[in-house]
Amino acid sequence: MAEPVFKRLALLGIGLIGSSVARIAKAQGDIAAEIVVNARTQKTLDRVVELGFADRVEPDPAKAVEGADCVMLCAPVGAFAALAEAIGPHLAHGAVLTDVGSTKQSVIRDVGPFVPSGVHFVPAHPLAGTEHSGPDSGFTTLFQGRWTLLTPPPGTDEAAIEKVAELWRRCGSMVERMEPGHHDRVLAIVSHLPHFLAFTICGTADDLAEETRREVTNFAASGFRDFTRIAASDPVMWRDIFLNNREALLEMLARFMEDAQAMARAIRWGDAAYIEDKVERGRKIRRSLIELKQA
Ligand code: NAP
Repeated sequence: MAEPVFKRLALLGIGLIGSSVARIAKAQGDIAAEIVVNARTQKTLDRVVELGFADRVEPDPAKAVEGADCVMLCAPVGAFAALAEAIGPHLAHGAVLTDVGSTKQSVIRDVGPFVPSGVHFVPAHPLAGTEHSGPDSGFTTLFQGRWTLLTPPPGTDEAAIEKVAELWRRCGSMVERMEPGHHDRVLAIVSHLPHFLAFTICGTADDLAEETRREVTNFAASGFRDFTRIAASDPVMWRDIFLNNREALLEMLARFMEDAQAMARAIRWGDAAYIEDKVERGRKIRRSLIELKQA
């Protein structure tokens, strides 16, 4: 077995993403020699003890990071500023501080000011997930064949970046670097806008008259069902993503609304060729995802 990348990995937040990393680290032994877990509630920490993928649980984030050579923030992004402020003075000299947050400019804004000199901050985002949350929802194959994007600020220590990249490769991920602003725009269209649409369409269906609403749930298989899966995601996590990627999301939404208007106009005027062309483009995108094994 290869040497572990880190001696002690402290995970702050242990839901779907954190507990998947912990399960992989525990099963493989080549990511960290020791796994320390912190969460907000004692209930979650008790459950982590039962699940057995942590070497130690610690209710105080400041104590959890002491002596860790890698600290990974795995809580909702809205919690990062307070967490960073709490742990900043306790981070070990030379440690790597990373995260898995879905927005990257906000993470750099919120965490950056609390990173002491001598600690290497390497923001990251694994593009993998499900609609489930909590420590029971993680699994060891979550990141297999998926991308992880690293968005280190200019001047970040290359050796630290490489260690975080290696951690994700050992989790089964493919790794790429990206500028944080670009990351936020890309994610706005591939993830944040689709979730926005799913939450909105479920709200619209729920507002319908009682009788129609019953039919929506009874006959959901015709397309609505796929939106409900996305809309089942954690409300706090998505509230935080929308509020922390406001500009990029609103920009993509404005473009989407223009295109939706154009489609509505084509339907109104019976422009069959326009409609067919749009549906065909959708099919092409789906086919290319299947070819790239990202479907
Ligand atoms: P999750 O399953 O909802 O778990 C969140 C964890 O964070 C829990 O352990 C929770 O502790 C802890 N937490 C919540 N609020 C906190 C606070 N104010 N301070 C400290 N800890 C807090 O979340 P997740 O789906 O793993 O997502 C975690 C992060 O990964 C988020 O930043 C998200 O944007 C990002 N991400 C998610 C996905 C996805 O599809 N789910 C994909 C990629 C990246 P308690 O259980 O004790 O409350």
